[in-house]
Amino acid sequence: MKMNPNYKILFDPIKIGPVLAPNRFYQVPHASGMTESNPRARAAFRGIKAEGGWGVVSTGAVSTHPSSDDSPLPFARLWDDNDIRSHAMSCEAIHEHGALAAIELWHGGAAVMNRTSRIAPYSPSGIPWAATHVGFMGNLRPRIMDNKDIRDVISWQVNAALRARSAGFDIVYIYAGMGYLGYEFLLEEYNHRTDSYGGSVENRSRFVRQLIEATKEAVGANCAVALRISLEELRAKPSDHFESQAHEVVSLLGDLPDLWDVKMDSSPSDCGASRFQAEGSHEPVIDFVKSVTNRPVVGVGRFTSPDVMVSQIKRGVLDLIGGARPSIADPFLPNKIKEGREDEIRECIGCNICISSWHDGVPVRCTQNATVGEEWRKGWHPERVQKAGSDDRILIVGGGPAGLEAGLIAAKRGYHVTIAESNPEMGGRLQFETSLPGLSAWGRVRDYRLYALRQMANVDLYTRSELGVDQIFALEHQRIAIATGAHWTRSLYSSLEIPQGELVGPGIYTPDDLAGGIIPEGPVLIYDFDNYYLGGVIAEYLAIQGFDVAYATPAGHASAWTIMTNEQPFVHQALHKHHVSIKTQSLLTGFDGEQAMLNNIFTGKEQMLAVRSVIIVGLRLPNDKLFQDVMFRSEEFADVGIKSVDRIGDALAAGALVHAVYAGHAYAQQLDQADNPLYLRDIPVADDAPGAVI
Ligand code: ADP
Ligand code: SF4
Repeated sequence: MKMNPNYKILFDPIKIGPVLAPNRFYQVPHASGMTESNPRARAAFRGIKAEGGWGVVSTGAVSTHPSSDDSPLPFARLWDDNDIRSHAMSCEAIHEHGALAAIELWHGGAAVMNRTSRIAPYSPSGIPWAATHVGFMGNLRPRIMDNKDIRDVISWQVNAALRARSAGFDIVYIYAGMGYLGYEFLLEEYNHRTDSYGGSVENRSRFVRQLIEATKEAVGANCAVALRISLEELRAKPSDHFESQAHEVVSLLGDLPDLWDVKMDSSPSDCGASRFQAEGSHEPVIDFVKSVTNRPVVGVGRFTSPDVMVSQIKRGVLDLIGGARPSIADPFLPNKIKEGREDEIRECIGCNICISSWHDGVPVRCTQNATVGEEWRKGWHPERVQKAGSDDRILIVGGGPAGLEAGLIAAKRGYHVTIAESNPEMGGRLQFETSLPGLSAWGRVRDYRLYALRQMANVDLYTRSELGVDQIFALEHQRIAIATGAHWTRSLYSSLEIPQGELVGPGIYTPDDLAGGIIPEGPVLIYDFDNYYLGGVIAEYLAIQGFDVAYATPAGHASAWTIMTNEQPFVHQALHKHHVSIKTQSLLTGFDGEQAMLNNIFTGKEQMLAVRSVIIVGLRLPNDKLFQDVMFRSEEFADVGIKSVDRIGDALAAGALVHAVYAGHAYAQQLDQADNPLYLRDIPVADDAPGAVI
């Protein structure tokens, strides 16, 4: 197929300082959860993006010195020569496909707690980032940097840049964003200095200027030097002679960096979930940069549509289309556009499970792309699969995310696949959940797979087809995957934080009842100890419908786990906006049809709430009755030609979408793989003996 000529501009090369980017697809620095502990996995993860057509592929943040120590979060290092080899492996994997390799050198300043190195954190004026969320709180406050400290940080940046050059990187970053050290100097809230580094905007940008100048002097002859900067707060601050302090900083530094990489200030605003932020949401903050500098500008916005990308370039907003999440969900996005296959793009759904992986301290996972992080350790590729190992026919019972992914991968491998779904439509839990506020983009999980399955001749899709054991036996398939999903229970929750007991009676519902069309009587109490998105979004949904809604949870925040996906502040804002009253630290202990009883989880203090319905979003358990019924007749398998019966996705273990898709993928990849190790274990590499002096 041919590329749409309108998209040609996306494939024009562009000069970045002394290097040439082959096209406009720029995988901006983003966390991968992979460090020097898993160099092969990291190299494969980055290399696949280059293979998929990204013209520039960057690392995540790479610490320049032990005083920038983000443990227990998984951060990369370039502290001494021992670290060069593992980064060189990434560069080689990226260069193999003709892309440029970029490295985001980083000093975290007061935003890191140096939990391992135990060095007092560096800061302009001793002002900490005092997070109120437990995962990010710390109790070591920073020191105030003196002139020697400033010189030291600059020399660590230079040394790291030289090592980066030895490792083979083409673009080296200075990082002045997201609350880290360079940003702290720029922002008056952090920077109270009275010397030449504080006060005026010019003085506050001096440290960043010196970092750029020193890096250029060290490696600038054959490496591009990029500045990554957050502009959200600066743009909101008035300046004496410019439209804002952001305009002033960009004008002052102007053409000094070879590339401007512009972004927002906090993870929730920079990396917003689709539930709350649309594609291209950064534009109002960063739209001016190109008018102030002659250097190329890259920015992000969860861009997955080539038309939006072209418009960003044509309207003079960006020169390069930055992608982090879109490159995770589909490493082959650029090649698909180039080959006129944009209908095959596996679009990011904006769920931010990838970001939760970083917060969990593990290699990146993705709802849409199950192969992410598994490129090396399982040998999975986002586009290529192993040929079928037999002519077995695969029957998948249940057309939810697990069943659709299993079917797609098995069919790509060449198996004949049948998917039977009892509902009138495929999609499983997504059918209801994508009708909730902000979740329509999640439908891409279903739509991408269904679209692909419908093109394939070796696939039969049946809806309105509830299968029982007899039907399964009659269908003459050799491999059976039971993907029948899970159900929400009416279980309550104990003060020991264990789901227990059941609340039964009129007016007590679960999300399954709402999905089935039940309309509760108001006022409604949502009781949530699932802690992910569903309880909060159902509260929002019902409030928008005009119900009087209260939301209670034993946790300290609404949708407590969504702190991991950058959604939590916006969940609270949305509930507030729709007048949902929030009761935290609350256990639901009873409901008599008119009053719900809530007890404080710590003190036991009672509170009565006048409501007519209660919706419990708590314990979810597998629908495995069909599996048990089939297994009960396992002695008949040989007679009907069945070789295997497996449960996949929520039917095995209930969880978020990402787990269901992964389980479906793993099932199909492993069909007929006799020798199936769990995964390969990565180990560090180093040129020197361990124990180097830092
Ligand atoms: P998962 O996330 O694991 O894919 P879902 O709950 O989203 O789970 O999807 C499971 C799907 O299985 C639902 O669409 C449900 O209608 C379907 N299903 C459940 N039991 C049967 C059955 N006996 N025959 C066919 N489809 C079924
Ligand atoms: Fe996009 Fe979700 Fe995948 Fe992240 S995990 S890249 S947000 S689909």
